[in-house]
Amino acid sequence: MNQPKQCKHSGCNCMTTDGKDYCSDRCRDSKKMTELICQCNHPACKGEALKA
Ligand SMILES: [Zn+2]
Ligand SMILES: [Zn+2]
Repeated sequence: MNQPKQCKHSGCNCMTTDGKDYCSDRCRDSKKMTELICQCNHPACKGEALKA
């Protein structure tokens, strides 16, 4: 079952589509650094807007 769920990155509001906890490797890696800003480069991601 691959149910969409929200990326676990605290600064990311993307939805994952592959049953993963994170929408991208960016988000997964960012967890180690506790970054607040998402860098997944998804156009709809709120994290991108916060960076500006
Ligand atoms: Zn994101
Ligand atoms: Zn994400």
